[in-house]
This record gives sequence, C-alpha cells and structure tokens, in this order.
Amino acid sequence: VISAIPTTSPRSLTEAYAVLSQGHRGLRVLAGGTDLMVQVNARAGLDRIGHVLDIWRVEELRGIVAGSALRIGALTTFAEIITSPLVAKTFPALVEVSREVGAWAIQNRGTLGGNVCNASPAGDTLPILLAADARFRVGGPRGEREVPADRFFVGYRKTDLAADELLLSIDLPPPPQGARLLYRKVGTRRAQAISKVILALRASWSGSAFGAVRVAAGCMAPTPRRCPQTEVALEGHGLGEAAVRAALGRDLTPIDDLRSTAGYRQKVVGNVAVRLLRNLAGLD
Ligand SMILES: Cc1cc2nc3c(=O)[nH]c(=O)nc-3n(C[C@H](O)[C@H](O)[C@H](O)COP(=O)(O)OP(=O)(O)OC[C@H]3O[C@@H](n4cnc5c(N)ncnc54)[C@H](O)[C@@H]3O)c2cc1C
Repeated sequence: VISAIPTTSPRSLTEAYAVLSQGHRGLRVLAGGTDLMVQVNARAGLDRIGHVLDIWRVEELRGIVAGSALRIGALTTFAEIITSPLVAKTFPALVEVSREVGAWAIQNRGTLGGNVCNASPAGDTLPILLAADARFRVGGPRGEREVPADRFFVGYRKTDLAADELLLSIDLPPPPQGARLLYRKVGTRRAQAISKVILALRASWSGSAFGAVRVAAGCMAPTPRRCPQTEVALEGHGLGEAAVRAALGRDLTPIDDLRSTAGYRQKVVGNVAVRLLRNLAGLD
C-alpha cells in the first residue's frame, strides 16, 4: 500500500532538509517502520499520508557518541543500544528496556527516535528518557533547536515537532553524582506485550534521604510524563510509602482500557515505586 505513495529516500541530512523545505502535504517520516507500517497495514490515517520521507539511509542520524552528554542518533536501533558499552556504562536501564522492546526483529529495525516520535503513552523508553533529563535535538530547513524531554510530549501521540522538523538525536546528560536510574515495565508477559504500567525512577540515597529525584511514568496519562508532586514528596526525604502513593495519585490520571483498569494501574504504580525506592535505598 505504502509503495503507491510518493517516497523520497535521502542519503544525507542536507537532502532530507531539502525535501522538508518543499512543504509536501501530508509528509510522513519513515524510520524503521515498526510503528508506521502497522498503522499503514491497519489503514489508520492512510489517506492523510501524501509523501513519505524515508530517512533510513541518513547515516548522520545513527550512532552513539560520548561528549558532555551521551548523544544517541535518532536512527539508532534498539539492537545497537543493547550492544553499546557506552550506554551500558552510563544508562544501563536503557539497555535493559531495549531488550524488552518487542523481540529481535523489532529490536533490529525499531529506532529510539521512532519510539520518541511515535509518542505513545506506552512507549517503553520514554519514562526513562524523562527521568534521565534527556534533551531532544530537532532540526529542519529553518535550523536546529533543543527540546527538554518533559516539553516534547504535548498531547496524546502529539509532539512538539513541526511538520518540517526531524528528531536528530537524544542527548543524555551524565547522571548526578551517586544517582541511579531504575525502571520497571509491567505487562501481561515479560516480552512481546504492550505495557500496562511503566515507571522510571532516578535518585541518590544518602542513608536517610533521597536526592536528585526524578520520577516518570508511562500508560498512566495521555502522554508519558514526569511526576512533579512525587518528586517533591521524595526530594530530601526518606521513604514515606503513604506519601509517595498519595503523590502519585495526584500526578497521574490513568484510564480504563482493554489492557487494564485505572484502579489496577494506580495500585500497581504505587507498588512499583515503593519497590524501586527500597532498591535504591539498599533495603531489598
Ligand atoms: C511486534 C511489535 C512489538 C513492539 N513492541 C514494542 C515494545 O515492547 N515497546 C515499545 O515501546 N514499542 C514496541 N513496538 C513499537 C515500535 O517498535 C517502537 O515504537 C519503535 O521504537 C518505533 O521505531 P521505528 O524506527 O520503527 O519508527 P517508525 O515506525 O519508522 O516511526 C514511528 C513514528 O515516528 C515518526 N518518526 C520516526 N523517526 C523520526 C525522526 N527521526 N524524526 C521525526 N519523526 C520520526 C514517524 O513518522 C512515525 O510517526 C512494537 C512494534 C511491533 C510491530
């Protein structure tokens, strides 16, 4: 079906920007295609796609480079993240979550940038990127800019990207001294299941209080999101289980859907948070 739609396959960012500057109506970016092709097969929004910009051969968008931040090109696949010593050293949670995305076929083709731009509330990497204070570098013919992860997801499956912009890279600043980032994905099965609840939690532990706290959740609201009230409840404090559960209740507004009920999600996210915090505090 998609082959009937005009497609351009640039080999460089300059070529890609030239296509973006032409203002094609209904332009859709294609990276690994593991989300887009599913939507195309289901004929979802097919009539709104007027032109496909297939960026798979744009090498500048691939690869993982260490600098003042760890820069992961938008086209980097989950398989590349899984085998990267650089990511394993600084963000082991990102390696672990990549192992849980689909199975090998999806990990070989699906990209981190595709997970970000698809902006599903159930996108598995997104709470981790939010809790890591990731910055998204975006660019197009009008120039480049940087968007903090917590300003990127603006509505249900809606991002801050303009029609003529691409996601270029995901930049991860080094974690604060002594802080660890843990996450837990709760699904029907260990693999090949869309998540019901995802929670990522970053904090240091002084022996009596948490510091540098970031909490972010997926499947608990129309967008993946930070949990500011929970962060305040934890920063500089010990593990007050009731306070954490109450703050998560204020931060998150889960819905009933075919995978789970709101009540289940709210209870489970509290249980997961307490378990991760106990782990961070060395209590388990
Ligand atoms: C069988 C199966 C299992 C899956 N399991 C999981 C799972 O466990 N967890 C999970 O989170 N996801 C899962 N997915 C979804 C999917 O694999 C991921 O979201 C993946 O990261 C998408 O990346 P992609 O490169 O294939 O994106 P694509 O399908 O190419 O693109 C996705 C969206 O992002 C846009 N886009 C992509 N790259 C860019 C860019 N650089 N700039 C601007 N826009 C861009 C596209 O236009 C499109 O709207 C699964 C999918 C399948 C089919």
